[in-house]
Amino acid sequence: MSATAERLIGVAEARRRVLAEPVALPCEEVGLDAALGRVLCEDVASEGPLPPFDASAMDGFVARAGPAGELEVVGESRAGRPAEGVLEAGGAMRISTGAMVPNGGEAVVPVERAEVARGPAGGSAERVRLPARATGDHIRRAGEDLGAGELLLRVGHRMGPPEVAALAAAGRAAVACGGVPRVAVLSTGDELVAPGRPLAPGQVRDSNAPALAALAARAGARVGLRAHVRDDPAQTVAALREALDGADVVCIAGGVSVGEHDHVKRALAELGVARRFWGVALKPGKPTWFGVRGSTLVFGLPGNPVSAIVTFGLFVGPALARLAGARDALPAPTYATLAEPVERHRSREQAVRCRVEQGPDGALARPTGPQGSHRITSLLNADALLLVGAGDGELAAGARVELEPLL
Ligand code: AMP
Ligand code: MG
Repeated sequence: MSATAERLIGVAEARRRVLAEPVALPCEEVGLDAALGRVLCEDVASEGPLPPFDASAMDGFVARAGPAGELEVVGESRAGRPAEGVLEAGGAMRISTGAMVPNGGEAVVPVERAEVARGPAGGSAERVRLPARATGDHIRRAGEDLGAGELLLRVGHRMGPPEVAALAAAGRAAVACGGVPRVAVLSTGDELVAPGRPLAPGQVRDSNAPALAALAARAGARVGLRAHVRDDPAQTVAALREALDGADVVCIAGGVSVGEHDHVKRALAELGVARRFWGVALKPGKPTWFGVRGSTLVFGLPGNPVSAIVTFGLFVGPALARLAGARDALPAPTYATLAEPVERHRSREQAVRCRVEQGPDGALARPTGPQGSHRITSLLNADALLLVGAGDGELAAGARVELEPLL
């Protein structure tokens, strides 16, 4: 069989087949400092109310609510050092931002609006003149952000810096997280030379191995094996065998087309990897191959550098998210207005790399110039992918389009 037009499946169907396979990896306890980018494996509730007590939102004075007047300064409540005793009518206390409101305290007046007065002649007590204030002024109520035991974060949520902050605020030093997928990256081709070595005529740089390793790392995975494989059947089988034994996801780039020296598909069949699809009606990315052996997912990605990166983003990224336990395996779309027309392809969906610019009426998606699958520069400064459906004519400038982020 060849990946001919009749056998190609659409991007959505290919994604459906990919996402039908991954089973989330076992959960593990992770210290908060290592939780960034991991996926929560438990629902997290706050240990107590947030804020934990009624606290001042300003530096100033706390007093009973009431009309403007002069009060005696009877103490101080500082952050972490609450005042003792009860604040009576006629008294005021100095209070710092974040300090506990003392018993009897009803309102805070910012220091800028308080006038510290000298005590009466001969007296030593400090006095302060406060404007009229109402109950609750400049006070953060205990639990107003989150009540004790209330749900803070749900299973399947990927943690960014705000989540780390919220977990710390909720008192969590460690959380249960989904596993980190192990990825093996193989690049194939006799023509490939790693950066840093001289290029002979006919040779090109291996950009896929570093690119796929970077993409995997960006997706929160751990790259174990990374190797270059020559266009040789035995070497291809040997490299894939090793990759399959130690990875949750194997990405092998190149060698999945119909060329005489494309050995990957045969090697995968020999190793017992069951094909789920070969060929997607996608440009770039047509020869993409996907299969499984046990719980290991195998992606045969096209060799062209742009195709490899685009298909990783469309198919491998969601699979990694699912393995890590993410609730939303597919990235959330964003929307923009198309800045330039895009010619449709008759039979294949196109993944057009776009820069997102600020236009007069919101976001504008501008294709990043020539889109050939060998043009690695088409990925530079690209923010998003625009999937343009197959058909005749063009997708007109000004069209409202849905974008998905590039990894
Ligand atoms: P293939 O899929 O093996 O037929 O490769 C398609 C095109 O991608 C050829 O022009 C290859 O030279 C190129 N290519 C394959 N692998 C890589 C790689 N790792 N880095 C850069 N270019 C590659
Ligand atoms: Mg090749």
